[in-house]
Amino acid sequence: MNAATELDSLVDLSARIGAEPLLVQAGTGNTSLKSDGVLWIKASGKWLAHAASEEILIPVNLGETLRRVHCDADPAGQTAMIGGRALAASVETAMHAVLPHRVVLHVHSVNTIAFAVRVDGPDCLKDRLEGLPWQWIPYTPSGLPLAHLIEAAVARNPETAVLVLANHGLVVCGDSCAEAEALLREVERRVAVAPRPFLEPAWDALHHMAAYGKWRVPTAASLHSIGADPVSRRIVAGGVLYPCQAIFLAPKVRVHSTTTPDSELGGADAPYVLIKDAGILLGHKPNPTELATLNGLVQVLQRIPAGATVHYLSEGDVRDLLCADVYHYRELVEDNGAGHMAFPSRSMPDSANMPMGS
Ligand SMILES: [Zn+2]
Repeated sequence: MNAATELDSLVDLSARIGAEPLLVQAGTGNTSLKSDGVLWIKASGKWLAHAASEEILIPVNLGETLRRVHCDADPAGQTAMIGGRALAASVETAMHAVLPHRVVLHVHSVNTIAFAVRVDGPDCLKDRLEGLPWQWIPYTPSGLPLAHLIEAAVARNPETAVLVLANHGLVVCGDSCAEAEALLREVERRVAVAPRPFLEPAWDALHHMAAYGKWRVPTAASLHSIGADPVSRRIVAGGVLYPCQAIFLAPKVRVHSTTTPDSELGGADAPYVLIKDAGILLGHKPNPTELATLNGLVQVLQRIPAGATVHYLSEGDVRDLLCADVYHYRELVEDNGAGHMAFPSRSMPDSANMPMGS
């Protein structure tokens, strides 16, 4: 298949996997193609789901990108002019570059993450992924650190084509889009977990609580399992499972009960709070990125069994995530998503209330 056709295939594949909330949430996930010395990589802040309607892939020089990686300079800042606008290469550009395969797909598969946050994740996956060329990659921040770790892992086992990124997601590689997609589907089939039933929220109690403050009760019943389901609630209250939870929602969440007095509940001063056995209250109207992240988090939590021991990101990991670069990334994702979805972006005053970094 020639380069242009393969690029068309990647655009098509990107749009399809980007439209699957169990694989990709909002602007997360990224795809790439190596062809004739060029690395076509998703631009930072672009949504895979929009691949068919706007330019989301940008070309960067593969040799130069690898040279930067090996000089410890992050190639993610490289830009290309697309439609009169300078777009920056994905934060994961270094990882895509060091993988030798032509096509690389990185997704935040909720089924994979449900294992990737477990202490016994590698053992569980050993059976499920038996026979596939896979490796477990311990949690490492995105960008150069992750790229270096992956490059070393693949050098040790060159046949590797599936990487489970602990506390992060999944990478699947192939020499064509068709091959990479077939492998992705096979991995997904094997790691698929039926979520616990989504519990019905205590609507009356939640609306009663919301009536006394600026809190909002989300209308999607499934979101409320994060507070209504005791296992999900305990896990999410225990810490940060993966970067998007801290970046797009909050690093910490409070748990209240339906009898919590209004004075203690606070005035919509957090992106969300959990109401024990009842559901969730939101501090503001969620933008598309926040909503997609919250939905993904609920889907992950409902797939982690009660007896599993969870590995959380450390306080240092979370602090590093909430650095200036990530703020910038977050803005990009939100800017991009706002025009495409039904929910408007947060207003400025609400934005100022997001307890990022707290
Ligand atoms: Zn990622």
